[in-house]
This record gives sequence, structure tokens and C-alpha cells, in this order.
Amino acid sequence: MAGTSGPAALLLAAGSGERLGLGRPKAFVELAGRPMLEWSLVALRAAGIAEIVVALPDGESAPAGACGVRGGASRSASVRAALAEVSADVVLVHDAARPLVTPDVFARVAEALAEADCAIAAARVADTVKEADDASMVVATLDRSRLWAVQTPQGFRRDVLARALDVGEDVLARATDDAWLVERAGGTVRVVETSPANFKVTTPHDLRVAEILLRERC
Ligand code: C5P
Repeated sequence: MAGTSGPAALLLAAGSGERLGLGRPKAFVELAGRPMLEWSLVALRAAGIAEIVVALPDGESAPAGACGVRGGASRSASVRAALAEVSADVVLVHDAARPLVTPDVFARVAEALAEADCAIAAARVADTVKEADDASMVVATLDRSRLWAVQTPQGFRRDVLARALDVGEDVLARATDDAWLVERAGGTVRVVETSPANFKVTTPHDLRVAEILLRERC
């Protein structure tokens, strides 16, 4: 497959959104006047990214100007399905559940790929993080100065991501992000510091906060 000059984006919108409890796929829930995934599409276009593949749940069609593919059983299976549709040398994977992403983050993540196999948007952790056992007893307090709350976009060279995703469905199902798949394949991953405002909409509370912040942008 021939490479193209600019990065391509894989926009993941195939999740069910059960934790949001609105009875429809989260990425298609109305948020500040448009379906949630449209906010990421606006940011991707403002970043100059022309090739966009959207992983979709059953029953939803691709937004105008983007190519759609049916998502997989897990998040990373959706990435694998969408990756099959792109030809660019650099691929940026983004969750439609992060509608507050800003265009500059896509460029910063793509640039950081000069120094690693994978580059990931991430915010510094503000809370103290402890590890507890099954009985809720604390077993460790982690060094907060070295901890990052990982977000998307995550950037990859296409061949690195394709190799990392070439694993069984059971491994894909355990991946909470795609950078982990690169790590377990021996690749290097670089953090790109971003704002905690690029949070993932998971709960009704998150949806209310996102609505307020996006209305301020209108
Ligand atoms: O479930 P969670 O919020 O962690 O999902 C993160 C992103 O991955 C969401 O944008 C969701 O639509 C997407 N996803 C997907 N395919 C799946 C599961 C999740 O595209 N099978």
C-alpha cells in the first residue's frame, strides 16, 4: 500500500456507551448541538487531517467527508478494522468519546513520532494514586511525579501499529489503549503533555461538564 504525505486519523465511535445509560451509542449522543463525534471531526479538520476513517456501531452511518467501517468487538479490534482502510504512513487514533480535543494536539503527537515508535497525549496526575488488594487494603503508594493519565490521540507509524495489532482477539480485548500493544511488542512510547480538559466522556456527570465547556466555545 503506498504511503501518503499527511497523517490519517482513525476515529473510534463503535462503543455502546452503556455507562452513560442513554440507550444509544455514546459517540452519537447530542452534545452542545451536534452528535458527540462531530466535535472530534471539527478538530481533526482544523488540524488539516483529510483522511479520516470512523469505526461505527451497527445501525450508524459515516459522517459526511469521512469513510466508515464497522467496529469490532473490542476497542482495539475497531482500530484494526479502521486501519485496514488507510494508506498514510502516520496514523493518529482518537476516541470520539474525547470531544474536547483541540487541533494542536494532533500536530504535537504526530511530531513526537520523530523520537519514538508511538506518541501519546497524556495529562499529569493530580491525585495521589495508591494500589489496593482485593480486601481494599493499600499495598503501595505510587510516585505521582512519574504518573500520567493517558488520553487520545495516540500516534503511530502505520507499520508499527499494524504489527502491534497482529495478535489474538483475547489480547486486543485486554488493551485499554493501543500504546500498550506497542509496548508489549517491544516498541518505544513517548508522552506528549496535554490538558486534563481532554477528558473522556464516560458518565452523565462528564457529559454535563463537556456540554458546558463546548457551549463556551460556540
Ligand atoms: O468504552 P470507552 O469509553 O473506553 O471507549 C473508548 C472509545 O472507543 C469510544 O470512543 C468508543 O466509541 C470506542 N470503541 C470502539 N469500539 C469498541 C469499543 C469502544 O470504537 N468495540
